[in-house]
Amino acid sequence: MDFTGQVALVTGGGSGIGRAACVAFAHHGAAVAVVDREVSAAEETAELVRKADATALALRADVTSSADVQGYVRRTVDEFGRIDCFVNNAGIGGTVAPVAEYDEADFAAVLAVNVTGAFLGLRHVLPRMIARGGGAVVNTASVAGLVATPGASAYVASKHAVIGLTKTAAGEVARQGIRVNAVCPGPVDTGAMRRLEEQIAPDDPDGLTARNRAAQPTGRYSTPEEVANVILFLCSDLASNTTGAQYVVDGGRSATGSATP
Ligand code: NAD
Repeated sequence: MDFTGQVALVTGGGSGIGRAACVAFAHHGAAVAVVDREVSAAEETAELVRKADATALALRADVTSSADVQGYVRRTVDEFGRIDCFVNNAGIGGTVAPVAEYDEADFAAVLAVNVTGAFLGLRHVLPRMIARGGGAVVNTASVAGLVATPGASAYVASKHAVIGLTKTAAGEVARQGIRVNAVCPGPVDTGAMRRLEEQIAPDDPDGLTARNRAAQPTGRYSTPEEVANVILFLCSDLASNTTGAQYVVDGGRSATGSATP
């Protein structure tokens, strides 16, 4: 994969999968715009990008705000002149409770970040790609976009919606040379996964982690870098006729149907 001379824009780039994608793009020659609502986290990632001898721009934005989204798109184009690869990745997990008890405000908050945030990213990046005649987008969905996870209705609904957005946008812009795909990670070793386990099993998060890892066919979670590698593949010319697809990175979990602990 070679992204020399290209520009990658990554939301949720301050942590986890997004950070790993920023660093991977840097190692493969791209200039990187790092977007996060935590500006210090975005700046830390930008430093890692610069250590990999690439150009970086750290931008604070809340992806639920249209003004912020328009701001990160404009700043990236002002600085770098174009957007070749867009990783629409910022997301939150939400609380865990049955649908019959799920807090309404929590539900709305998850949908705002995971669905409206992803929509707004597409809404304001795609016109730039259409004007230039090409580009690649990867939306970070989840295996929760393909199958249910008990207690996570907001997250599951939001990630199913991200896959719906991916398929719809892919069809709309395919003739303009733009590809739109989704990556569907299973459990990944990130802060978000740890927070989820602490929420589900506050008395024994380590025990839950151990059981959850044991239920993985590979016996372990993915690393953020393993997900980032698939994101880069989907953005690269190696995937030049792949669009509207969902790429699962879950250590075989969804294929083999291991029980969710
Ligand atoms: P993370 O919490 O490590 O990183 C998410 C980043 O997004 C954080 O830096 C956070 O500040 C940022 N963010 C959150 N809300 C934002 C907002 N409104 N505006 C701007 N930035 C915001 O999480 P992660 O695990 O790297 O998650 C990245 C993506 O991967 C998410 O979409 C998540 O749903 C998805 N995912 C994660 C896992 C997992 O196991 N960790 C599995 C499947 C899918």
